[in-house]
Amino acid sequence: MRICVDAGHGGSDPGTVNPWTGAREKDITIRYALDLAAELERGGARIIMTRQHDIFVPLSRRCNIANTGVKHNAGRSDLFLSIHVNGVENPAAKGWEIWTSPGPTNSDILATLIYNEVDAEYHDLHMRPDWSDGDPDKEGKLRVLMGTWMPAVLIELGFIRNSGDLANMLDPEWQWRMVQAIARGVWRYAERR
Ligand SMILES: [Zn+2]
Repeated sequence: MRICVDAGHGGSDPGTVNPWTGAREKDITIRYALDLAAELERGGARIIMTRQHDIFVPLSRRCNIANTGVKHNAGRSDLFLSIHVNGVENPAAKGWEIWTSPGPTNSDILATLIYNEVDAEYHDLHMRPDWSDGDPDKEGKLRVLMGTWMPAVLIELGFIRNSGDLANMLDPEWQWRMVQAIARGVWRYAERR
């Protein structure tokens, strides 16, 4: 199985930034993406990353890498996993979300399996599901989800302005557990194919 792991933002695009600590989304996403890629590779997946360094990669290019494997001459990926951090003004906003494109697709199944593993891993993590269509993922026309031709999810690890979320995201043990939980969800999905 080929899996495209997408670290949000990078280079000239820092993503969302905590105005008090200076923590930047792009630095968090690359750490999680590299760890997740390594974990999935250990489990036998072939990994394609949209970036491995602090560089700017346009959204269209990210989709292209997943759809054609252009960078690695690897062909289309079977799954697309995008890692992001939420940013809103209100520092009280907190929690974990997973997004898919609108409508029922295999992405919803993948998202639900990942959601369930993350939810089970932590007792104290605030999950932000949207149960309105019967599953926990949120749905939206996000560019990398609309432009990729395989089951695709986008994970928002937490809110950068929330001190609790930020401390979690910067905690190596929390990161390790998160990466393991996401990977377990991916394996659950792979098993059912
Ligand atoms: Zn982002």
